[in-house]
Amino acid sequence: MKIVKKIGALRKALESPRCQGRCIGFVPTMGALHCGHLSLVHRAKKENDIVVVSIFVNPTQFGPHEDFVHYPRNLKKDTKILKGSCDYLFVPDVREMYAQGFRTRVEVGGLGELLCGRTRKGHFTGVATVVAKLFSIVLPQTAYFGQKDAQQAVIIKKMVTDLNIPVKTIVCPTVREKDGLAMSSRNAYLSEGERRDAVVLFQALKSAQRLVDSGVRESARIISVLNDFITRTVSARVEYIAIVDEASLSTLEKIERRALLLLAVTVGKTRLIDNMILKIKVSGNR
Ligand code: AMP
Repeated sequence: MKIVKKIGALRKALESPRCQGRCIGFVPTMGALHCGHLSLVHRAKKENDIVVVSIFVNPTQFGPHEDFVHYPRNLKKDTKILKGSCDYLFVPDVREMYAQGFRTRVEVGGLGELLCGRTRKGHFTGVATVVAKLFSIVLPQTAYFGQKDAQQAVIIKKMVTDLNIPVKTIVCPTVREKDGLAMSSRNAYLSEGERRDAVVLFQALKSAQRLVDSGVRESARIISVLNDFITRTVSARVEYIAIVDEASLSTLEKIERRALLLLAVTVGKTRLIDNMILKIKVSGNR
């Protein structure tokens, strides 16, 4: 695995494999790597000749009162974790990605203002801008994202379509801890007690599916039950619970087909997100 810090050097290194027709798979990350990230890297390895992973804590996707400064960074540990799993690790610094005078941004419209975008103003513009830049630096055939960040995945897919970017995007399943907590770099912020409490997100998602299984179809009723359930955990504060169409992210009043249930919950001071597809089970022959 080669560690590359400069855009020019990465482009040069990828030139010859690209000319030889070798497939390049790309996994953008912000580091503090865990098994969730690795699942994307392994999938990329399986499906491509060359795998590029980027680690870049992107300042433009953090709000002024968010955790950009404190976001966990440990390149040495990340390098060890990735060894043998990827060919190039791209670790540009902020100046390399955003030269002085940088102005251009990718506006994602309404999709970026819903759900997480309500409290994280400008977050998805920052995400789309950096992903567009990384795509044009790496020029991969395929890029891999996690379902854990469902809204992000929808927005990237829309950006790729709208801007005719020739990159196929694959969304991989959420990897969870044994108790169901979705793996996340931010889980490191949780105290021992908060870590125990954080499982409430997954428990809430599962109880929603049980409600659907028992015949409940009204989103408002499910959201209300989940809200009560989560707020019974003293350290947990609900930011939003939403049931939406998985492609358009538009609100679903009733669950009549597959629906995406999303949660944002702050546990202690740590904001966590998770989601699950709610399915209506087709009953067998009677
Ligand atoms: P991040 O470093 O948090 O920006 O995440 C980089 C990529 O890894 C994104 O596409 C995330 O959706 C994905 N990812 C993060 N956590 C998980 C997880 N638990 N399971 C699967 N993918 C994940």
